[in-house]
Order: sequence, then structure tokens, then C-alpha cells
Amino acid sequence: LPQAFKRALPILEKIQAAGFEAYFVGGSVRDTILNLPIHDVDIATSAYPAEIKELFAKTVDTGIEHGTVMVIDHGIGYEITTFRTESTYQDFRRPDKVEFVRSLKEDLKRRDLTINALALRPDGEVIDLFDGLADLESKTIRAVGQARERFHEDALRMMRTVRFASQLDFEIEAQTLAAIKENAALLAKIALERINVEWVKLMLGKNPKAGLADFMATGLFAYCPQFKEHQAQLESLLTIENLHLDNEAEVWTLLAACFGYRPEQGGQLVHAWKGSNELKAQVTKALRTLEAMKAGDLSPKLQYLTGSEMLAVACRVARLLGLADYSSMAVLLAYEGLPIHSRAELAVNGKDLITLLNLKPGPILGQLLDQIEEAVLNRQVKNDKLALLEYGRSQLEE
Ligand code: ATP
Ligand code: MG
Repeated sequence: LPQAFKRALPILEKIQAAGFEAYFVGGSVRDTILNLPIHDVDIATSAYPAEIKELFAKTVDTGIEHGTVMVIDHGIGYEITTFRTESTYQDFRRPDKVEFVRSLKEDLKRRDLTINALALRPDGEVIDLFDGLADLESKTIRAVGQARERFHEDALRMMRTVRFASQLDFEIEAQTLAAIKENAALLAKIALERINVEWVKLMLGKNPKAGLADFMATGLFAYCPQFKEHQAQLESLLTIENLHLDNEAEVWTLLAACFGYRPEQGGQLVHAWKGSNELKAQVTKALRTLEAMKAGDLSPKLQYLTGSEMLAVACRVARLLGLADYSSMAVLLAYEGLPIHSRAELAVNGKDLITLLNLKPGPILGQLLDQIEEAVLNRQVKNDKLALLEYGRSQLEE
């Protein structure tokens, strides 16, 4: 057993000693068998939430209505979820009611994919009721039970399926794939935030082109914002030779650039997908840099405003799409060589200008600071207090 499981063993043993069943379940079991690193250890149990809370001193009600209690042990939180079935599905979304049961089998039956429906006993034995081990072995993604029904119950599972195809570099079994094709339109019922999470994981996966090919071929793309009208551009990504993406900003910058979007449109794309304002700003910056690269005019000011992280994103996207030939190394070295990297590094600040140049707070002061900053970046003047005050004075006289 990996260390993360060993650390959690006393918790399972305590639950068992109280007369209940307890297993490791979900992604951590799958990833362990695949020899992949695991992030969080999930535990499933026949004990009801109230029974778990009685057993442990430190618990947090993280999702008590779904049967999940977090047990804190040596500073680590473990999500312990009561075996449950999800009986009433409405609107092709996650059920609003769950029913607690005492049988592991019922719990595993409601899980999405066979590779995600494995349970691990504390003694190391794997419980494999749906041939998940064989599917792990043959690198197959298959729905538990009738794929059609399962996607009707919860349409997000279709996105999860294509996401895992990319993440694990597995192939989707034929009937599961056919069921997605048949039911792709149900994706429209799912909250965009949840689709977004799966889409980004797909793009950041080990084999994004495989996941993307399935996403396109099944028609799922047509139910995602701004994708339907860019089918050809999305498909063109499948011809990129070495498609590997590093972070979320890179995903959206690549998409916006491949759609031929201006920087503001890229920001709007992120916004339409419910991305954060920070992500929106990052993507807009990277796209501005890309435009400048295409024009062969990457000014020190723009490098400064973009920052090293988004400069790197712009370089990688430029290379992936063959838009411009800038080496990441050269661009980052140029960035490192800029005279300043933030306003704080400027040898004068607003206060200096107020006291030493007799200025008042206001737009003139702001403009002058901008001018001084740009002059320093362009190496027209040294970043030295006296030199900058002198320069400031001469600008005011003009
Ligand atoms: P990751 O490595 O991304 O965390 P995971 O398989 O652990 O992958 P989670 O979203 O953390 O995915 O879910 C944990 C488990 O819960 C899954 O392995 C699966 O058994 C079950 N599950 C999650 N989402 C669904 C769903 N929409 N329908 C059915 N079962 C699900
Ligand atoms: Mg997980």
C-alpha cells in the first residue's frame, strides 16, 4: 500500500472495529493500480454519518447531506462517505436526493466508470465487481452498467469519460462511446462550471488529442460556449504534432488564438466559460503579447506588462500554432534583463514627485509616472532617483 493509504489505515480499522465496513474507493484506488501519484484518499463506509461522528474526535461536516464527513487525523482530512444510491434523477443532473445503504455493491453500482468503481480493503484486497481491473489492464474506459442510462442519470459523466480518455491515455469502449454520441445534447443541462473543470482536465491531460478527438466525434463540443461555430478550428488542433499544455491560461490562450480572436475576445471566451477574472486577465495579456509577436514588435513595455508567466504561455502557443518564431528562452532572458519588473522597483514614487517636483495628486501625476516608467523600460533614462527627477521636470516643462 502507498504511504497515503497506510497513514489512513488506522481510520479504517477503527470503523471496522466498531462493526462497520470501510474501504478506500474512487480515484486513489485507480491511480494506485496504475502506479500514478494520488492526491486525495476517499473512504466509503457502511456507517452512517452520525455513526462516524461518534467514532472520531475531530470531524467537519463537509457534505453531510450527501453522506460525507471529514475526519481530521494528524492534520490530514479524510472524506468518509456513507454507501449510497442515487435514486431520484431529475433533469439529467446529479440527483438532489441520496439514499444511504449498507451495501458496498449498491455504492459501487452508482459510480460512473468501471475503473472508478474499484474498492480497496484495508488488508490490500481489491474488490472488483464490474471488471474494472481488466479495463485498467486493457486501458479501456467503460461505463458501469448501461451507458445510455448512466449518461441519462448524469450527463456530466460524458465529459468525465472523454476527460479520462485524455488524462489516462485510454480508449473509450465502443458502446460507451456510442452512448455519448447519442446523448451529447444532454450536456446542455449541466452547469458550465462543472463542464469547465472536465474540459480543462481534458486539455491538460497526457493525451489531449485523444480526448479532444472523442469530444469532437461525439458532438459534445456543440453544447459548449463558442465551440459549435469553431468546429474546424478545434479540429485543426488535432494536427498539432506535440500537443502538451502546461496550465489553464495556456489552454484558453491556445483556443482563443486558434479561433482567431483578438485579446478582448479571448477574455470574453474565458468569461463565457465562467472562468475567473484573474484567468481572463492572464489570457488577455498572453493574447496581446501574441499579437505583438506576430507583428514582430514585442516592446519592453509589453514584456513588462505581460510578466514572465504569460510571456512563456504566449511563446508556447505561438510555437504550437506556428504563429511566430520566438524562442521562450530568448524572450524570458529579455524579460529578465528589463531595467525594472514592477512599479515598486522604480527609483521614484508618487510621493517623491509630489514633494520634490511640487505636484499635486491627480491625473497629471499618474501620467508623469507612466512616462517615467516607460522611459526607464526603453532605457532612455537610468533608473536613478536624480536622473528620474530631472527627466520628470523636463517632461513637465514640455
Ligand atoms: P480525480 O483524480 O480527478 O480526483 P476521481 O476519479 O477521484 O478523479 P472525483 O471527481 O474525485 O474523481 O470522484 C471520486 C469518485 O466518485 C470517482 O472515482 C467515481 O467513483 C465517483 N464519481 C465522481 N463523479 C461521478 C459522477 N458524476 N457519476 C458517478 N460517479 C462519480
Ligand atoms: Mg478524486
